[in-house]
Amino acid sequence: MAREHTRSHELFERARRLIPGGVNSPVRAFRAVDGDPPFIERGKGSHIWDADGNEYIDCVCSWGPLILGHAHPAVVETVTKTAERGTSFGAPTELEVELAQRLVEALPSVEMVRLVNSGTEAVMSALRLARAFTRRTKVLKFEGCYHGHSDGMLAKAGSGVATLGLPDSPGVPPAFAAETLLAPYNDLAAAEQAVAQAGEELACIIVEPIAGNMGVVPPAPGFLQGLRDLCDRAGALLVFDEVITGFRVAYGGAQTLYGVNPDLTVLGKIIGGGFPIGAYGGKREIMKMVAPEGPMYQAGTLSGNPVGVAAGIATLDALRASEGFAAFETTSVYEPLEAASARLAQGLVETALDAGINFTLNRVGSMLTLFFGTGRVADYATAKKSDTRRYARFFNAMLERGVYLPPSQFEAMFLSTAHTDQDLDSIIEAARHAVLLPA
Ligand code: PMP
Repeated sequence: MAREHTRSHELFERARRLIPGGVNSPVRAFRAVDGDPPFIERGKGSHIWDADGNEYIDCVCSWGPLILGHAHPAVVETVTKTAERGTSFGAPTELEVELAQRLVEALPSVEMVRLVNSGTEAVMSALRLARAFTRRTKVLKFEGCYHGHSDGMLAKAGSGVATLGLPDSPGVPPAFAAETLLAPYNDLAAAEQAVAQAGEELACIIVEPIAGNMGVVPPAPGFLQGLRDLCDRAGALLVFDEVITGFRVAYGGAQTLYGVNPDLTVLGKIIGGGFPIGAYGGKREIMKMVAPEGPMYQAGTLSGNPVGVAAGIATLDALRASEGFAAFETTSVYEPLEAASARLAQGLVETALDAGINFTLNRVGSMLTLFFGTGRVADYATAKKSDTRRYARFFNAMLERGVYLPPSQFEAMFLSTAHTDQDLDSIIEAARHAVLLPA
């Protein structure tokens, strides 16, 4: 029997009259999968429930932040206790120092860090800092990478921009866009050419060290180190956007996983434990330019908000305990998460092979994408070759069977430490039926 969605439909109709597209972030509207979104009422562990009482295994996890799953007891407890003592002061708190300390300890390239309210804001601020420090203006980004929606970063961006097939956004002054240079992801020769073209004007290269916004695309061997070398030769800064990958692929992020240190790192998602947060950090010498220590201005009324910061600390401590930093726990969170993700990937691959469909599965740790109708996906051009109609059918069939996937071919699936073997079996079982749907 088909699932009931009456209440969600009613809410969506109401929302559409009040909010553009009925949503506060475009991909949530389910346009790429030809559907109406369920309105989510609650979540616990790896499961969510919608307004009509339907239950789903959640493979989105709020687009990455919820690495511990929904309503993790340690996070809920600290959030409740912290809120009872006041939700915002606009003044320094000990919690901010505690979170900053954890970020600096975790990320080999980060000596100082500034907290902001979103990934977008963190990128925007890091780029201003790179420009202030180098006294240069141009930024090289990669096609299909998404770095939030600040003006200069909307050129050939991934995520919602890719999902909606927007070439660029109106409202971005051409003069701003002209400051952004583009190269294909994983194409070191093209990056080298762009760097040469920018010459003394290049402030920085910004990159998702593992792309997660054109679907998951891992860096080719040597790509990140190649960018490091290019920046060093050009006198430009290397900026890693680890909004997704920070504390996701390893406690120390992609920079630890691949052993390449950027000059600046951008963070978000996991470090706020499900609350709005972002951060940028890096070498002391560079970070000292940020106001009030230096002249580069950046500020925020709610920056370092105690509730979000407390949720972030609880999340990192649950992850850190597993890394052997704390004596009270010895098992690593990242090992079982890797094993579960590998198991899910294998199950999906076998399912797709059995169904005789053409596909590619890309995965790094607990972030993965099943691309339909295509071979190797190594950049935006190859990601875009995938059969998005096929993905939409798969998505809807999975949803009907109680598996909530990202509502776009160009987004990553995320697992959490709360996903059980039973969840994985259920996802694979649902996929067995979903891939067999006729074209
Ligand atoms: N950078 C990356 C790599 C992201 O994935 C995102 C959001 N998915 C952002 C920046 C922007 O973060 P936010 O949505 O918090 O503004």
